[in-house]
Amino acid sequence: MTLATYLDDLNERYLELHQAKERAFWETRMGLSDRHRELADGELALRELLADSARLTELRRLREQGSPDAKQVVVLDGWIAMLSRNQVAGDEARAVLRELVERESELLQARAAMDLGYRDAAGNWVAASSVALGNALRCDADEAVRRASFDGLRSIETFALDHGFAEVLRLRNRFARANGFADYYEYKVQWAEGFDKRTLFALLDDLERRTRDSAASEIERLARAHGDEVLRPWSFAYTTRGGDIQQERDPYFRFEDALGRWARSFAALGIRFRNAKLTLDLVDRAGKYANGFMHGPVPAFFRNGEWLPAEINFTANALPGAVGSGLDATRTLFHEGGHAAHFANVTMDAPCFSQEYAPTSVALAETQSMFCDSLIEDADWQTRYAHDASGRAIPWRLIERGIELTQPFAAQEVRNMLSVCYAEKALYELHDDELTADNVLRVLRATEQRVLMLPAGRPFPTLAVPHLLSSESSAYYHGYVLAQMAVDQTRACFRERYGYLLDNPSIGKDLAATYWAPGNSRGFLDLVEDMTGRPFAADALVAEVSRPVDIAIREARDAIERSKSIPQHEGEPDLELRISVMHGSETIAEPPASPLDAADRFRAWLENRN
Ligand SMILES: [Zn+2]
Repeated sequence: MTLATYLDDLNERYLELHQAKERAFWETRMGLSDRHRELADGELALRELLADSARLTELRRLREQGSPDAKQVVVLDGWIAMLSRNQVAGDEARAVLRELVERESELLQARAAMDLGYRDAAGNWVAASSVALGNALRCDADEAVRRASFDGLRSIETFALDHGFAEVLRLRNRFARANGFADYYEYKVQWAEGFDKRTLFALLDDLERRTRDSAASEIERLARAHGDEVLRPWSFAYTTRGGDIQQERDPYFRFEDALGRWARSFAALGIRFRNAKLTLDLVDRAGKYANGFMHGPVPAFFRNGEWLPAEINFTANALPGAVGSGLDATRTLFHEGGHAAHFANVTMDAPCFSQEYAPTSVALAETQSMFCDSLIEDADWQTRYAHDASGRAIPWRLIERGIELTQPFAAQEVRNMLSVCYAEKALYELHDDELTADNVLRVLRATEQRVLMLPAGRPFPTLAVPHLLSSESSAYYHGYVLAQMAVDQTRACFRERYGYLLDNPSIGKDLAATYWAPGNSRGFLDLVEDMTGRPFAADALVAEVSRPVDIAIREARDAIERSKSIPQHEGEPDLELRISVMHGSETIAEPPASPLDAADRFRAWLENRN
């Protein structure tokens, strides 16, 4: 077999297993059919390919002795990196892994079927997903509803612990130890980022120190002004995240406008999808996985020199009608759409570079999505895009009020993410015999109190964060924190380079050329430095969250003023995209509908539904 044939075969074999797993993943997570069995089997088959040590040896031999040309060297290095990260050492590790996949599948299945919700004032049971509960916690003006929603979220924690979460933690640690790592967190950081836990927490500790004082003094100020009750979990999030003005902002962030805004904004930024096929399932429903995500059943690459466009699915859990849900849906669209743009634009010669798992850096992936969703918080973006049903732009006083309410707590928001990282780290550092349900809860509360300085803990309880339950997304929350640092560093770089971000078509080109094209052939820290010309650091984020309110307001006003001379994108957005919009198994729009057609059909579908 020639080297070229060997590599083609590997591409095809990988694609087949990847697709089989991803199709089962989508149908199961969307609640379309119960394919937990196929999903678990598919995951194992894929892991076996990636853990195949004989194949890794062969790849290394071909790299040294197979006379590869320059392109083949790159591809061989890509597969070698991917297989090295996924090696499973020995029979014990394999046996633990098998048990872990089983236990976890049971846990996730139970969680999906959980009777979640809260009791209203009249004592009636109101079914609600964790997304709905989190939304109510931040946005519902009625304190009793917020409190009941918080209790509902806390019930996820006890439910998970009653359904074997502590045992899953133990198995993850055993698996990591069998592979030579100190614990699962250590394993996971090295797996996804290629550096160790100590390096990671040196970065996070630095950020923690530099945000501590400003967060603490704002919390004290708030408690002095409103009494200690405001620090209760169900009051704190509402007060510090603009809950007060959410009702007033709502008409400018109508859910039915979200899809069209997303398409026009991305087109204006010069983002293209290289003919990818995108499937969107945006509205929450019972049995659907409780968090937005993007997965790619087909990773894009040049297959024998011919472009194979990506196939990408992404989902949001919008609750049409609920206060704050339109803004949330817009944010999710920009976030997951940012992921999709990233993976659709990896222009390498094998699928190992454009799949979402290791050695693809979580931090790099989240930098792309969080960069895109950061735009909708910008005053100039809101003034241009956030219009009500009659076309009136969101008024300045509402933007200003939003800044007054949230900017003082920007440092605390960063710590809100940090608290999840510290809590998970602490859980995986418990010994096997300490991993009891009581201890898990005790460690979570203690970490929340320490990092957030809130006596009753995190408003959105740590173990209600869906990432912790599944191995795929556990012990990687730091990816969001590193990404937030990179997003602010990247934004600062674009502001220096171009003076503005709004509808700037150079941005899509820069992102595609520097961050997206190389896929995982380059690491996160290197790419951030390539893009910004500076080593990766917390400086830009710390500067951003430490800005006094009056400075933040002045910057917002300046941005709006400048945006008057920035041309608006006209006509049909050319995203080079084949788009389908689904609700479970119901088709709302499909190719050849253009993105704006799809947005119109989605709007009509929503209106019919009410
Ligand atoms: Zn993401």
